[in-house]
Amino acid sequence: MFDTLISFIREQYRTQEFIPLHAPVFAGHERDYVVDTIESTFVSSVGAFVDRFERDMAAYTGSPRAVATVNGTAALHIALKLVGVGAGDLVITQPLTFIATCNAIAYCGAEPVFIDVDRRTLGLSAVAMDTWLAEHAFLDGDGLCRVRANNKVIRASVPMHTFGHPAHLDELTEVCKRWNIALVEDAAESLGSLYKGRHTGTFGAVGILSFNGNKIMTTGGGGMILAGEELGNHAKHLTTTAKKPHPYEYVHDEVGYNYRLPNLNAALGCAQLEQLDHFVNAKRELAARYSSLFENSPLHFVKEPDHCRSNYWLNAVICEDIEQRQVLLKTTNDQGVMTRPIWQLMNHLSMYEHCLKGDLSNSEWLAARVVNLPSSVLPEFLA
Ligand SMILES: *Cc1c(COP(=O)(O)O)cnc(C)c1O
Repeated sequence: MFDTLISFIREQYRTQEFIPLHAPVFAGHERDYVVDTIESTFVSSVGAFVDRFERDMAAYTGSPRAVATVNGTAALHIALKLVGVGAGDLVITQPLTFIATCNAIAYCGAEPVFIDVDRRTLGLSAVAMDTWLAEHAFLDGDGLCRVRANNKVIRASVPMHTFGHPAHLDELTEVCKRWNIALVEDAAESLGSLYKGRHTGTFGAVGILSFNGNKIMTTGGGGMILAGEELGNHAKHLTTTAKKPHPYEYVHDEVGYNYRLPNLNAALGCAQLEQLDHFVNAKRELAARYSSLFENSPLHFVKEPDHCRSNYWLNAVICEDIEQRQVLLKTTNDQGVMTRPIWQLMNHLSMYEHCLKGDLSNSEWLAARVVNLPSSVLPEFLA
């Protein structure tokens, strides 16, 4: 049944060997820059590549500040602290996400509130969020958004741009503003994606990126906090043990974190960032080919939302039902073409099953049907 799909994918990657979902590409200055850190001995917490990586990423995304971190989860942990998320608080997010989104909320001593996604964007639905808030929350005398049932404060909302497709950011910004909730974008998957011409990760008070090995570009492990000047300065302070500048003494003025990105990893990041536009173009070309392949198929190929340019980090199809999904997963994986179902919903995991939630019908519907397809940069783009 999926023979056409399998031979199409094998044609794209020109191989009869195993085809992974996503493989990193090192076709630029990676080796030179990494060797540079070794020869200079600056492989660790001090070095020129960290500064350069932060400057280059700020320029690329148009964010006033960019602060590099050890990974995307650490970036999200700090992002939430920056907007004041603390013990006993609530944070709205989508149940259809990677576990890191929820874990970062838990690290703050806060709990997620699960709100449904849009079927079109696979990201947090502004309408579902507004509807749930109207029914369950109120603004108190200090203008804080509180849940009626337990009086807890909803401090932030974290939409996630699933597989690189931007969520409805204008609508989410409006709802957050009206309810006095800080917007924090989990843009871990969407580096290079634009919403109305502007980079995802730059719409909220804070945004975060990930450079894990499976993302559109990698530093081995790494992340970035995108913010304005003030929060950016605080982010730098918090991720570097909250040490005050002093010629020789140790002076720390709050509980800080050792979350800085080593120079060795930043070197890789500088080289990868030089190729990012090329990677995005390659992925968009592959997505266009998948899209035509699925044009007259019962499977629905997930396309970029209106007014958006997606990085198509991971291509995805929506199957008609779970039985069809199981056949697709088994047939492709048996034949050495890697495919994977979307994540299990966060509200079904034991750590988060007690959390507050709204109606999650779209998330449930998608969780049973979405499958990711091989999405690495095509060999013809590596010449
Ligand atoms: C990859 C990812 C992160 C961050 O992951 P790290 O591995 O810690 O860099 C966070 N959120 C989402 C949705 C992700 O896909």
